[in-house]
Amino acid sequence: MIRLEHVSKTFPNSTTPAVDHVTLEVPEGEICVLLGPSGCGKTTTMKMVNRLIEPSSGEIFIGDRNTADYDPVQLRRTIGYVIQQIGLFPNKTIEDNICLVPDVLGWERSKSRARAAELLDMVALDPGTFLKRYPKELSGGQQQRIGVLRAIAADPPVLLMDEPFGAIDPINREIIQDEFLKMQARIKKTIMFVSHDIDEAVKMADRIAIFRDGRLVQYDTPDNILAHP
Ligand code: ADP
Ligand code: ADP
Repeated sequence: MIRLEHVSKTFPNSTTPAVDHVTLEVPEGEICVLLGPSGCGKTTTMKMVNRLIEPSSGEIFIGDRNTADYDPVQLRRTIGYVIQQIGLFPNKTIEDNICLVPDVLGWERSKSRARAAELLDMVALDPGTFLKRYPKELSGGQQQRIGVLRAIAADPPVLLMDEPFGAIDPINREIIQDEFLKMQARIKKTIMFVSHDIDEAVKMADRIAIFRDGRLVQYDTPDNILAHP
């Protein structure tokens, strides 16, 4: 579970808050899509959860632990993070890219490599074909899939996704969204997902959090939001 309590952020040299007293709880195993136009505070809200940005005030909890009590680097190892420009390491194989966090955490090699193969299977990429390839030998959509697998490799309970499929062409975006939902049905992560696309939000979300000018103005299921816009 992710819980924000009265969280605000005002950047230095700014007079208006980028995020303004946001209180929000994402229940365990749900996808919460943060939806709203560019500049409304979605990314800032998300980056405060893994402390890439420090809140000006308010508190953020993961489970029953206050994120302020973690060392930020430790914290980020327990939270998967997927962004639009995923940036796989070009000189590492797909296997080594996926195993990045397990390697940092000191998993045994046999265990992390078995995990990489298991993850590739989950997104219908044949491990025999893909484990030893390099990122440039994959399509953009395939690379983004690997980025998602990298984020969940060490099995973090929480996943942050910032327009993860935004750079993928519309046809492949549909495929990767469907694939991701199928995977989520198995892995049941607690997910915060930034999007500015209402269709994507309705499709992906258990709940949608609508932001305007840094404030959370509506938080409900897609059905209720479509019924009471
Ligand atoms: P969104 O993700 O909804 O597009 P952001 O959270 O990126 O919105 O930005 C919210 C507001 O905060 C915008 O006005 C943006 O310009 C500002 N902002 C974001 N990051 C910074 C930063 N590092 N320094 C100063 N202002 C920032
Ligand atoms: P997004 O695609 O989520 O809208 P942006 O393109 O707004 O992201 O921002 C990209 C990066 O630039 C982010 O790390 C954000 O924190 C930073 N940023 C955004 N606005 C500003 C700003 N006004 N001043 C400084 N940094 C900013």
